[in-house]
Amino acid sequence: MVAASRLFGTNGVRGVFGESMTPHLVHKLGVAIGVYYGTGSTGIVGSDYRQTSDCLKASLVSGLTSAGADVLDIGYLPTPGVQYVTKISDVEFGVVITASHNPPEFNGIKLIHNDGVEVPRPIEVNVENHVAGQAHGTVSWGRVGRVHYSGSGVSSYVRGMLKHIDVDRVKSAGLTAVVDTGNSVGALVTPILLSKLGVRVISVNGNLDGRFPGRPSEPTPSNLGLMSEVARDNGADFGVAHDGDADRAIFCTSSGEFQYGDRTVALIARWWFERDSQRRIVTPVSSSTLIEDIASEYDAEIIWTEVGSIRVSRKMLETGTKLGGEENGGVFFGPHQPVRDGAMAAALMVQILSETNQGIEELLNSLPNYYQFKDKVSCPSPLKERIVALVKDHYSDHEIDETDGLKVRKPDGWILIRKSGTEPIIRCFSEAKNETHANQYGETAINLIKELVDSAPDM
Ligand code: MG
Repeated sequence: MVAASRLFGTNGVRGVFGESMTPHLVHKLGVAIGVYYGTGSTGIVGSDYRQTSDCLKASLVSGLTSAGADVLDIGYLPTPGVQYVTKISDVEFGVVITASHNPPEFNGIKLIHNDGVEVPRPIEVNVENHVAGQAHGTVSWGRVGRVHYSGSGVSSYVRGMLKHIDVDRVKSAGLTAVVDTGNSVGALVTPILLSKLGVRVISVNGNLDGRFPGRPSEPTPSNLGLMSEVARDNGADFGVAHDGDADRAIFCTSSGEFQYGDRTVALIARWWFERDSQRRIVTPVSSSTLIEDIASEYDAEIIWTEVGSIRVSRKMLETGTKLGGEENGGVFFGPHQPVRDGAMAAALMVQILSETNQGIEELLNSLPNYYQFKDKVSCPSPLKERIVALVKDHYSDHEIDETDGLKVRKPDGWILIRKSGTEPIIRCFSEAKNETHANQYGETAINLIKELVDSAPDM
């Protein structure tokens, strides 16, 4: 049998509405998911606030019910909110309609297992094969599923997070936070959660608007200028921003300084290692040496994974690890759920600030500093594998970790070279204690890859 064309990428099925992401495709995905879980199964469906989310939800629900599955529609919620409700409910699966941090014209589908984590690849393949096949999967009229509605998703999710926080202690700290939810579903949760913890919340881009007029959805330094300005001008203790589905949290200090995700993960890891006897963290190979520094301070173990939040979640489940983190602002707090969760990250931050009685600046200043470099090179897809093998030969006198691509160890840093799974590019990421070295390592690798691509025979 010829393999069906791949629909699911590293974070579900994604595309531009009206191009690769159509109501027709989503209906077919709904049927395929309904067929996989079977007549009489129940699935939770939630979405972010994109302009096209309602339209695609109607198609998805039509597909699911026509294949005989019942649907519990929980409305607009962050991805981790849908994951949490799926985990605590007696259902077979969950589906989130979201394109995470992508621009507003994108949308997508994420399929969630009943443990709240994205489904493993074999289930995606099953769904892809059904979409590619001719079988329609529609059941007879008497077995078509029903749709039920629940408005309690946000409150269940918020209650779930509050269980892990010392509410009285945080309340007594009297904190102020700027919360930038980028006009999407984070606005339904994080301001409420923090308010319940006695935090004075100043909202930025807190109005729901599926065209994301306030800022692009990805929480990068260039997109978070307003949050930084408001934090600085209003004497806030910190600022926190989410992406479109609020599974990531990026922080700024009271003076408005942007913080990369691994610095936040390092603070949370340090706090956690002081309290929990497990002293173990799961993190992708792209994470900063900072995580290694904190782990060695506490004699903690690091379990390295490939890049991608689902790799971290599945490894946490497999090894029973309670903490995970990513450099892009992904915090995985296992006692709540082993998936990245932006609101939970904000709650952990206020817990840490209230327990340590230190400002976020002071806490961050106690961490070692690293410099990073990121770039990519175009490379025809059929060549990618061979180019990476040649790069490996070039660095053969170095220590190389091949968990995901090549992580070449340098005396004061590393270079990570990874081929993209979906695009004709090779990515390069480097880090060092010293800015010149970080750039030098990265630029040398980039130039080497360019030369190898240019001198490769046409394919
Ligand atoms: Mg996201």
